[in-house]
Amino acid sequence: MLVDSHCHLEFPDFAPEQAAVIERAREAGIGHMLTISTRVHRFAEIVRVAEAHNDISCSLGTHPHSAEEESDVTTANLIALGQHPKVVGIGETGLDYFYDNSPREQQQEMFRRHIRAALELDMPVIVHTRDAEDDTIRLLREEGQGGRLTGVIHCFSSSPRMAEEALELGFHISFSGIVTFKKADELRETARTVPLDRMLVETDAPFLAPIPKRGKRNEPSYIVHTANVLAGLHDISFETLSHRTSENFFSLFRRAQPPTQ
Ligand SMILES: [Zn+2]
Ligand SMILES: [Zn+2]
Repeated sequence: MLVDSHCHLEFPDFAPEQAAVIERAREAGIGHMLTISTRVHRFAEIVRVAEAHNDISCSLGTHPHSAEEESDVTTANLIALGQHPKVVGIGETGLDYFYDNSPREQQQEMFRRHIRAALELDMPVIVHTRDAEDDTIRLLREEGQGGRLTGVIHCFSSSPRMAEEALELGFHISFSGIVTFKKADELRETARTVPLDRMLVETDAPFLAPIPKRGKRNEPSYIVHTANVLAGLHDISFETLSHRTSENFFSLFRRAQPPTQ
């Protein structure tokens, strides 16, 4: 069994065939999918997907791109909505200085609110970070209550130093299809150094389809290609990689329901 630790099943890209996409994932051996919230104001749409399926859980959060648009979302709002039984983590939140779609100060403020909510709810935080390594680590340190905060750096594509610092903070690191791309040699080297008990796998579907599906719309069933590459880097079987990363997922996201055989 594999777990897709980060996908966006309620995105309009999937609307015409969401049910078929979910079915193909199950056929490919995906035992659980975590569908990720990017707008708190659209929480109802995402929770509907999770409520309809035992093997889908969801998160709650404002993507850094939408930090300005959702600047009215408070820590108290997050704590209140986060009580929903299908919510297993807070995010995706973080800092994106590559696109700068929201002012950096607002991104930072929203990131802090999400971390505080995650601590209060005793849930992991799902971190999106791009071109913002120093501030990301600094905020995780400042708000993390000395290692009490848990979480994952999703779609990891940062430097080896960032991986080291995130691991030092006790964080998990999740790899997407980027690790299969031809030019991603440095990222593959980093993936090799991430301990097997701290690694997760994700698609970030509908984005970033792995090779050999690159350029197409991504979907959870394609995660097998990414898992294969990670298994090769760690010189273990596909089955072992799948088993270990699934175990990691359910020990980090403790509110997610593992499948019953
Ligand atoms: Zn992201
Ligand atoms: Zn995402």
